[in-house]
Amino acid sequence: MDVFRRGREVERVKYWGEAECYHYLFDAVIKLNQLGLDSTTRTHGPIRNTDGALSSIRNVKLSAKARALASNGDIEPLRRCIVLDIEGTTTPISFVTDVLFPYARDNVGRHLDATYDSAETQDDIKLLRAQVQEDLENGVAGAVRIPSSDAGKEEVIAALVTNVEAMIKADRKITALKALQGHIWQTGFKKNELEGVVYDDVPEALERWAALGVKVYIYSSGSRLAQRLLFGYTNYGDLRKYLCGFFDTTVGNKKETKSYHEITASLGVDHPSEILFVTDVYQEAIAAKTAGVHSPLCPPQVRCDETTPNLGSIRWKASLDNGLVSGSAT
Ligand SMILES: [Mg+2]
Repeated sequence: MDVFRRGREVERVKYWGEAECYHYLFDAVIKLNQLGLDSTTRTHGPIRNTDGALSSIRNVKLSAKARALASNGDIEPLRRCIVLDIEGTTTPISFVTDVLFPYARDNVGRHLDATYDSAETQDDIKLLRAQVQEDLENGVAGAVRIPSSDAGKEEVIAALVTNVEAMIKADRKITALKALQGHIWQTGFKKNELEGVVYDDVPEALERWAALGVKVYIYSSGSRLAQRLLFGYTNYGDLRKYLCGFFDTTVGNKKETKSYHEITASLGVDHPSEILFVTDVYQEAIAAKTAGVHSPLCPPQVRCDETTPNLGSIRWKASLDNGLVSGSAT
């Protein structure tokens, strides 16, 4: 073989070598995509949709189908917005009563001691002082005088702990207590001492609604900070990417119709019936319905029994899909 021919042979081998290499890579990309894995990242994590939603293998099909149906008008979402309650709807009530509140109760002293000089904690103390002053004037049981700052950090904290323990025991829904609890939980979530719990079908439902273009909001009596923490640090990771906003009792009590007028105004819909409010509490659903907001109730036998297996699944199927897709729920 002369030099010229051998040169061309080497070029040909090199060309086919490269082509085989590209072919192999192309195959690998297809296989990764079939597995629902993102070939464009080093970690090959789950594929992200353009809207940022995560897709598993099953959900890639579901989301694609949902989009196709939505575009065909077969599934025309009747509600533009979904507003979700937390306790008993997205999250077991036991998580709030047996995990969150005991954590806040048991860490008041530790939190105040560790953060005493921060502006945030000093603001919390200011709110507590004002509340305790009011309680003392009204003869509220369990309220004790808080010494001035000059008395020293330990004495102030001891009095604060006594007051806060009494407030928690009386289950008081007051701003001063909620602000402090929120900051104690913030520390707990950030230190991985707490993890938010949602029912197993919640992430899938949130992803499905995101694919349908439905906006999802939270309305809970917990502070907005507590809500963001719960959904930011769940057993399914950070779910805040699916949520468009958070409402707490600053818009009003959940059992008052006025609150749902406020939410309707904030969401900017043409009519309250474009909103689906999901709750496990009868009086809240009635208040929402009186304001014209769609609010199907979960079956009472499910609502009352927190130990029912697959509670979340039953709850979501019973109320959410009917209300969202067919509008058949009452
Ligand atoms: Mg509830």
